[in-house]
Amino acid sequence: MKRIAFILILIVSTVQVFAQDMNYIKRTINTLCGTSFGGRGYVHNSRDKAARFIARQYAETGLRTFAGAPEYFQEYTFPVNTFPNRMDLVIGKKTLEAGAAYIVDARSSGFRMDERSKMQRVNLSRVKDTAAWTKLQADFKPGKVYCLQHLDTLAKRLHRSAASLLESLPAACYIVPQHAKLTWTVSTGVIPATVLYVADTAMPRGRKVTVNVEQKFLQDAPSKNVIGYIPGTEFADSFIVLTAHYDHLGKMGARAIFPGANDNASGTAFNLALAKYFAGKPPRYSVAFIATSGEEAGLLGSQYYVQHPVFPLEQIKLLINIDLMSDASDGITIVNAVQQRRAFDTLSRINRSMQLLSAVKSRDNAPNSDHFPFTQAGVPALFIYANGGKGYYHDVFDKPKEWSMNRVPEVFRLLTTFIEQQ
Ligand SMILES: [Zn+2]
Repeated sequence: MKRIAFILILIVSTVQVFAQDMNYIKRTINTLCGTSFGGRGYVHNSRDKAARFIARQYAETGLRTFAGAPEYFQEYTFPVNTFPNRMDLVIGKKTLEAGAAYIVDARSSGFRMDERSKMQRVNLSRVKDTAAWTKLQADFKPGKVYCLQHLDTLAKRLHRSAASLLESLPAACYIVPQHAKLTWTVSTGVIPATVLYVADTAMPRGRKVTVNVEQKFLQDAPSKNVIGYIPGTEFADSFIVLTAHYDHLGKMGARAIFPGANDNASGTAFNLALAKYFAGKPPRYSVAFIATSGEEAGLLGSQYYVQHPVFPLEQIKLLINIDLMSDASDGITIVNAVQQRRAFDTLSRINRSMQLLSAVKSRDNAPNSDHFPFTQAGVPALFIYANGGKGYYHDVFDKPKEWSMNRVPEVFRLLTTFIEQQ
């Protein structure tokens, strides 16, 4: 009886600990997705608010700072194109909703229009070759609005990407009807054209249009990686590093916010919870936490870190990057698992013996998140993402309420057990 009671208490207390961790993760995701955090992008420097929030969490948790990142901050800059205010599109009688019905190409220049004008339809499926495409572009006039139909057909015919075809377009506004899901991004460069992708299901009839897009290119947008650590009890000079990017796409005009709940408020919150967990129970190896920025602009924070590490990269025993951690109903995928076979096998074994997740999948390395610059520098690294949910990605629907957090506590247990076994 006594023994059973003891085991019961142990199980109940473990469940309570993880319930606490989960509550903290959910609360933190909500905070990071709040309106005042502006999608952790570049308009009104809102990602800086997120950086300060993360630093406060580190401080409360008691993480130590490195000399190279005083007050947890490693600062750097990069160029970025932004859409800080006006973003209007009216076609026919219909005012379209930014983010939901259309997105601006992130490389776009601004466009101003005082009076409604006529949109000219251009059927690109009639353009036969590169010469004809070059000739056609010469006819586009500044200040005018064109609807480019069948851009994908032309791209296929010329063996080029649709995105690259838009680079040479002269300054004017181009409406591109799109059948695929609207997926936004961040650009570090600008093209002369203003390009609006309109969901074909939202494309109204009518030719009269009003377009106003306010754009601002920031040459040196200040950014911060947020870095702290917990010293290990036995091998203090050797580090397990946990990374997660906290930046997202920010705002597209004054109204549309891309909250990035799954991408990657979830991973940021998950790592902050791991920091709290290990602060109370330090493992044998030191654990460093790097909340990176600039990921959506091209892994720029992790690239900068690799070039300016705050302790030698050789001291990293293993780096684990978390990006997209809101629903693990279908398990997790581990990128670079092929190259890090031993770590992958250990994680799989723990998963089987503790019966945590339905699948732990292995994937070859790919430049799809912040682990990548580290692997290029020879650092042993894994990238873990969760599989599940409705597929909202880089759109205005990636909100906390859309994600179940199903099986995320199991991923938490898998990683804490794995790190404790090192
Ligand atoms: Zn992303």
